[in-house]
Amino acid sequence: MAGIYIHIPFCKQACHYCNFHFSTTFEKYRAQMIDAISQEIYIQKDFFGSSKTQLQSIYFGGGTPSLLNNSEFQQIWRALEANFDLSQLKEVTLEANPDDMDSPFFDMLAQSSINRLSIGVQSFDNLDLAYLNRVHNGESAIHAITTSLNQGIEKISTDLIFGIPTSGIPRLEKDIRLLADLGVSHISIYGLTVEKNTALDLLIKKQKSIPVDEEKSALEMEWLMDFMPTLGYQQYEISNFALPGDEAIHNNSYWHDIPYLGIGPSAHSYKTPFRYWNIANNMRYIQSIEQGILPQETEHIHLHSQYNEWIMTKIRLREGINVQLLEELFDGEISKHFHSTVKKHLASGLLQFQNNHYILSTKGKLLTDNITADLFL
Ligand code: SF4
Repeated sequence: MAGIYIHIPFCKQACHYCNFHFSTTFEKYRAQMIDAISQEIYIQKDFFGSSKTQLQSIYFGGGTPSLLNNSEFQQIWRALEANFDLSQLKEVTLEANPDDMDSPFFDMLAQSSINRLSIGVQSFDNLDLAYLNRVHNGESAIHAITTSLNQGIEKISTDLIFGIPTSGIPRLEKDIRLLADLGVSHISIYGLTVEKNTALDLLIKKQKSIPVDEEKSALEMEWLMDFMPTLGYQQYEISNFALPGDEAIHNNSYWHDIPYLGIGPSAHSYKTPFRYWNIANNMRYIQSIEQGILPQETEHIHLHSQYNEWIMTKIRLREGINVQLLEELFDGEISKHFHSTVKKHLASGLLQFQNNHYILSTKGKLLTDNITADLFL
């Protein structure tokens, strides 16, 4: 069943490592943006091929969707209700930053169908948070989680970052034990990467921030993969750990070739064999939608790219690459390329072969990008 992603391109402050699409000076066009997002939902109502398509998940991401007030959220929700069948929705996620999670936010939550929060904790250590230039502190993150659980939100996911130069494994262990004690059932953990032209990149170049140490990051990743299962968290995707039964439904559609529609500036959509992406410019997005034109580019995904994307997502999953499915989906030449390339990774122990699936070993998970690139056409 299909899913919808809605991108809210507002942030209070720019985190130094971030390269997502957002603006911190949005107040003057805030109402216009909410109108445009709602309008785009009407324009895209037949994206999945029929009107009133049944959805299984809706994901509000960003940017910072927890900056939405109740009337803005309800406006977008009314547009969704008017154009899609929401009767079978299993998961409605909203990304939230701890500093926004005050009583008006929880009032909005109580009046909505949101049943899952993805809270941007990143770290409970204030030195780490200062390094990342996050708005919140460790205490407000704990408060945000406990209040959400007390308000009856059953599914809480948190984001954590490893590889931050101001801390290491002892901090990770403390943070993860705290999340487990609080009752968080899903944790997404990402390595800190220094993307080109981010504030962090410039600060490191000017020697005003400590550089990221790749070796330290790899050791932390290795430690995480050993430690998380001791608390019951299963690594069902390279960056995602969950207690059994609490895996994310929406993200699973990205990994299992289920079509999804992205609404809002910079949002991506997928419906085989096409990929679409909206313009990553807030004012141009608004102006175009106001004229009834989708500010969108389209790419026909050819068989080679389809294979590359399929490998890139499947290799990251707990179940790995299903060889039978690969042979059904891709022609003889492509399958031949896969079989001849995969051999050396099997021999070196980076991949294991179990029940007709190629699965990354622990050592292989540290080299996922290299193995993936090698399997590409
Ligand atoms: S809150 Fe999220 S989207 Fe906004 S700047 Fe920070 S990391 Fe980026």
